[in-house]
Amino acid sequence: MDASSLDRRTLVATIRDYVEQLREEGMEGLPASTSPAPRAMPAAPLVTPSKADSAPMSTELFSKYPGLEKSSTLDELREFIGDCQRCKLAPRRTNLVFGVGNPNADLMFVGEAPGADEDARGEPFVGRAGQLLTDIIERGMGIRREDVYICNVIKCRPPDNRNPEPDEVAACEPFLFRQIDIVKPRAIIGLGTFAVQAVLKVKIPISKLRGNWQDFRGIRFMPTFHPAYLLRTPGDKRLVWADIQEVMKYLGMPIPRRGGSAP
Ligand code: URA
Repeated sequence: MDASSLDRRTLVATIRDYVEQLREEGMEGLPASTSPAPRAMPAAPLVTPSKADSAPMSTELFSKYPGLEKSSTLDELREFIGDCQRCKLAPRRTNLVFGVGNPNADLMFVGEAPGADEDARGEPFVGRAGQLLTDIIERGMGIRREDVYICNVIKCRPPDNRNPEPDEVAACEPFLFRQIDIVKPRAIIGLGTFAVQAVLKVKIPISKLRGNWQDFRGIRFMPTFHPAYLLRTPGDKRLVWADIQEVMKYLGMPIPRRGGSAP
């Protein structure tokens, strides 16, 4: 064996040991893309990349669910998830709430988890908070709800609407990330503390994050308040409307003339 093939074998063995060590430390995957790590982005976008440019997608090195990455459409992903029993929320759900909307949407909304209405109907954001979200999209942004894609971090209702637990997030988030990979939105709006912290893997309060562009695997991510919070605190609707307008500007959408006030 010559020196160069010995070197190559040593290098491969070293890399394998290192990757194995990362796995033991709990890392579930490494992004294959060259996009920078999540970071705060300037409030004013410097460029408006085309949809094709804007979403370098990751391929997990270790998939929590082998075969998941082979699903290349939302229908295939839904089929992969099947009658999910992967976490303790399964026995009490009525419907798994996968997501709705345009599979090629430029804009995706990500909420926390289904509530009672969503669990009953199998569709995200159809209760009171959902009605407000629909108003924001249709009356505020001037587009149809069907034109965007809407889903949650967690696909099954937590009992009594309690916060999702870490093992439930861990079980479900690969499906959200795959949804994002498939839809390839140009921008994502994260609704509320839980969704934002779960996606960005930060513990920063939503009041500090909202209104500031973040990056999720090369996709612009705008944190804002959850519509359920707005039902309790309508005075903050204007802040959400400001965040939504930032996203609309980035997407090159006209701001409706009546814009400037919250829907
Ligand atoms: N709240 C959420 O976060 N998601 C829903 O689908 C409904 C309410």
